[in-house]
Amino acid sequence: MNGRQGDYPSDNEARAYLLKNQPACYIITYVVAMKSQDMDPRYRSLSSWLKERFGEPVRKIILDAGLGCPNRDGTLGFGGCVYCNARGSGAGAHERGILIREQVDRAIEFLSARYHCRKFIAYFQSFTNTYAEPSHLAKLYAEALERPEMVGLAVGTRPDCVPDEALNVLEDLADERLVWMEYGLQSVHPRTLKLINRGHGPEAFFDAVTRTRQRKILVVAHLILGLPGESVADMVETAIRVSEAGVEGVKLHPLYVVRSTALEQMYQDGSYRPLTESESLEATLAVLGALPPRTVIHRLTSDPHAEELVAPLWMLDRRGVRNRLLKEMGRKDFRQGSLRSAPVGHERRLEVKRSV
Ligand code: SF4
Repeated sequence: MNGRQGDYPSDNEARAYLLKNQPACYIITYVVAMKSQDMDPRYRSLSSWLKERFGEPVRKIILDAGLGCPNRDGTLGFGGCVYCNARGSGAGAHERGILIREQVDRAIEFLSARYHCRKFIAYFQSFTNTYAEPSHLAKLYAEALERPEMVGLAVGTRPDCVPDEALNVLEDLADERLVWMEYGLQSVHPRTLKLINRGHGPEAFFDAVTRTRQRKILVVAHLILGLPGESVADMVETAIRVSEAGVEGVKLHPLYVVRSTALEQMYQDGSYRPLTESESLEATLAVLGALPPRTVIHRLTSDPHAEELVAPLWMLDRRGVRNRLLKEMGRKDFRQGSLRSAPVGHERRLEVKRSV
C-alpha cells in the first residue's frame, strides 16, 4: 500500500498494512471512497453518494462484534451458507479481545493519519449483527458511535434475524445519524437459497425490508452473482425484485470459493464452476443495467483474502478487474438502469447457465 493521498487501498491492502505495521491490531478497515468511482458517473457509487451527503469523503470502519450466526450455531442450522467459512467474514478482532471502542479508535487513528479523512461510518460486517438481545445491541452500536467523527452506522445481518425490537434500537439512532441495514439475500430464487443453505427464503427478506422502511432506516440488499445453478436472467430477476421492494442500495459481487467451505467441496467435485471474468463482467452489467439509476451501488467487485481463495484466481487482480469493468462500461456507453427499458427477452440473450 503506497498511501498516497487520494489513492485508496483495497481491503486486503489495508489489512496487510495493519498486520505489518501494527501486529497487535486486527482491525480491518474498508475504504469506501475510490478515486475512479468518484470520477465515474456511469453508476451511482456509494463513495459519490456519501460525498454528496456529507460534503467530503467518508470511510467505513469494519467492526467485529463476534455475534455469531444462527445458521452456524444450530439455531437454524449447522455449517452455514455454502460459501461461508468459520470466520464469517470476520477479522478476528473480537476473538482477540479487542473491544468495539478500541477497534474504532485504532481505525480512526490509522485512516485519519494516512488519508486525512475526518468522517466515518461504523460497519458491523462479520456474522449476524442483530443476533443478540436488544439491550446488548444498543450498547454495541452506541459504543461504535461515541466519537464525533462517526457520522453513520451500517449493520450487516440476516433478514430472518431482525425482530422489531432490534429495529427500534436502530431507529432511535437514526434520529441523528445515517443508519442503514445490509440484508444478505444473495438471490430471490428459493431453489438457489436452498442450494446455498441460507436457511431462509426470499419472503424473510421482503418482510424485513417492509418493516425497516417503515422506520427512518435505509436498506441495502447484498446480492451475489454466479451462485450455483443461476443464469444471468435469474440474477437480473433478483435485481428487479429487490428494486421493486424499494431498497436504497445494492451490494453486488461475484461468488468466489474459499477454503474449508462446502462450496470448495462442490468446486473440487466439479459440481460448481465459478464465473469467468468475462461472464462476471456480463452479469454485472446486466444486473446494474436492471437497477434504477437512483440505487446506490455499495460494491461491484469481490475482494477475497488471497490466502483463503481457492477460485477463481482472476479476482486477485482486483484493480485490473475493476479497470476492465469500467473500460467495458465506457466502450458500451453503459449507464446504470440503461437496460430497464430493454425489450422483454433481453435477459434471455444474456443467459449463462451455471452448473449446479
Ligand atoms: S448468514 Fe452470514 S455468517 Fe451466517 S453462515 Fe451465512 S454468510 Fe456465514
